[in-house]
Amino acid sequence: MAALEASVEQKADPNRIYDVIVVGAGPAGLTAALYLARFCRSVLVLHDGESRTLRIPKTHNAPAYPEGITGADLIQRMSEHPLRYGAVIEQAEVRAAVRSAEAFLLTDAQERVWRSRALILATGVRMNEVEMPRELHEAAIGAGVLRYCPICDGYEHIGDKIGVIGCDSNGAAEALFLRRYSSDVTLMPLCHPELTAEQQAELADAEITVVQGALRELSPKEDRMDVFLEGRDAAMSFDVVYPALGCRPRTKLAAGLGIEIDEKKQLAGDAMNGTEIAGLFAAGDVLNGLDQISVAIGHGAVAATHAHNWLRACDQQTLQAKT
Ligand SMILES: Cc1cc2nc3c(=O)[nH]c(=O)nc-3n(C[C@H](O)[C@H](O)[C@H](O)COP(=O)(O)OP(=O)(O)OC[C@H]3O[C@@H](n4cnc5c(N)ncnc54)[C@H](O)[C@@H]3O)c2cc1C
Repeated sequence: MAALEASVEQKADPNRIYDVIVVGAGPAGLTAALYLARFCRSVLVLHDGESRTLRIPKTHNAPAYPEGITGADLIQRMSEHPLRYGAVIEQAEVRAAVRSAEAFLLTDAQERVWRSRALILATGVRMNEVEMPRELHEAAIGAGVLRYCPICDGYEHIGDKIGVIGCDSNGAAEALFLRRYSSDVTLMPLCHPELTAEQQAELADAEITVVQGALRELSPKEDRMDVFLEGRDAAMSFDVVYPALGCRPRTKLAAGLGIEIDEKKQLAGDAMNGTEIAGLFAAGDVLNGLDQISVAIGHGAVAATHAHNWLRACDQQTLQAKT
């Protein structure tokens, strides 16, 4: 995974109560930080270096980049932007967050403590990935033969031979979505197929091939992915493979603060407007909604503006902006 350039990282002031701490330096958190810094707020961004955007080889649907941009470049630019206005960005894995009467208190494994009046959680999700050695897995993502987001990059595979792993409703939905880009889509189970009769009929209507046999091994090549299934000696080769295995939202800090988590283990889709805890907001993929850079950016702007207005109301400054 790409790392941010050292110039972006700074040390937070441990004696300070920041107006807002943002946990997360992905598109949601960095946009929130930009807005807050431009609202003349003291803002600290804490992150553990795991933005999903850093793993994007090249995105072609980030507005304003018609030639595409790598995820690492985008995060670098998005980090430099709030720094210009005084935001502080520090790498640290936040282990716990609690609300005291005066402030949110955040701590890490080394028992460092950070304090703020308002808190924005922009902690993203972790993907459920296919089993492969880490380096091989990331190289396959880099080569574009292993993809996790049909909405993001299905267009790059028009006319390609596409494999989807996960024979359940996630897998069926992704295979049907990708069928728009190619007439050669194959759905394979991770362990065993769990398709309803209705899903099977829909897949058959769309002429999507469904094969049996649990996944044995994935073997990425420079320009294709070889897939070995139980019960077949020969590999099946695809231009690209999409695992459709869902994700795990990073809601540990929110849960620790007592926030309600929905049945998909995500935060409510409107948590950028505020939550049941005063001064706590959330933004980006961690919310129930469309997991995309442009959505995360929008959430970040909304959460920051609500946090700023909440602080203004606390300070009885609701009629005029701070000068
Ligand atoms: C391979 C790949 C390709 C993709 N392609 C595209 C694309 O082309 N177009 C598109 O729109 N989207 C794409 N996406 C999705 C996109 O990356 C996400 O929608 C986007 O990153 C969401 O932004 P976010 O800020 O909500 O979360 P993230 O970018 O994931 O950021 C989460 C942040 O929270 C931090 N964090 C979480 N918990 C803690 C903690 N306890 N302590 C400290 N820090 C913490 C992480 O360090 C990280 O900085 C792709 C994703 C992947 C993996």
